[in-house]
Amino acid sequence: MRVSLLSVPGSPDRSNEDFAAASHDVVVLLDGAGTPPGIESGCSHGVAWYARQLGAQLLAEAGTAPRRPLADVLAVAIERVAAMHGDACDLTDPNTPSATVTVVRRTGDDLEYLVLADSVLVLDVLDGDPVAVTDDRLARTSRSLRAEMDALPTGSPEHTQARRAYAETLGSYRNTAGGFWVANTDPAAAAHAVTGSVPLDRLRAVALLSDGASRLVDRFRLTDWADALKILADDGPAGLIRRVRAAEDSDPRGERWPRGKASDDATAVYCVL
Ligand SMILES: [Zn+2]
Repeated sequence: MRVSLLSVPGSPDRSNEDFAAASHDVVVLLDGAGTPPGIESGCSHGVAWYARQLGAQLLAEAGTAPRRPLADVLAVAIERVAAMHGDACDLTDPNTPSATVTVVRRTGDDLEYLVLADSVLVLDVLDGDPVAVTDDRLARTSRSLRAEMDALPTGSPEHTQARRAYAETLGSYRNTAGGFWVANTDPAAAAHAVTGSVPLDRLRAVALLSDGASRLVDRFRLTDWADALKILADDGPAGLIRRVRAAEDSDPRGERWPRGKASDDATAVYCVL
């Protein structure tokens, strides 16, 4: 695999809570779920720490146990990072750091994948239209809860308050049947991931995108997956993220595209097979 990768924080004064890494046969992308200011998480490490640690464990475990299914690899990684928190952190806190997880692994003649929560895997298939592999349970759950926040101008005090309330309510649906699943401290969440595999000879390339990067297509609807893949092939991850930032800058208060943050951490990994 020839892999190109770029991850850009949503704002220069905040740490990047996305994480992506690659070996010759495994790629991982995680998007840590931030706790808005004013909400206790019970963890002294933070969301960026969590995404990095889980990503590093995943990359190592998926590579060293190539026969272990990716959902089992994720369960092992979640368990290890839970142990790394130590006794000082309250892992029962509902706002403990969490992350979306996307993994691809080249095994024999296939590309295996796992998608948990709202990052997107786009398959550039040789004999048809691109296929976006998504886990839409978070989007479906949040749609009904975010109306009040989305009606307010992004960045206003009222919006900040509504975002906090939204995050608290959304949290009560996390890792519950009928809600949505993410990685946090419970290895059982891994079994709820979307998984599958595709023969390598059907694929030209794949892209892993955090929602801060995929929004050009799935939120702003400024282009489609086929064009996003073309941008990645021609201009790399930097070209895609540049277009996302240009769109966000044209709508700083979220009037055209209501959103939680004016700019989110954006990560794109493009893998040519
Ligand atoms: Zn911790």
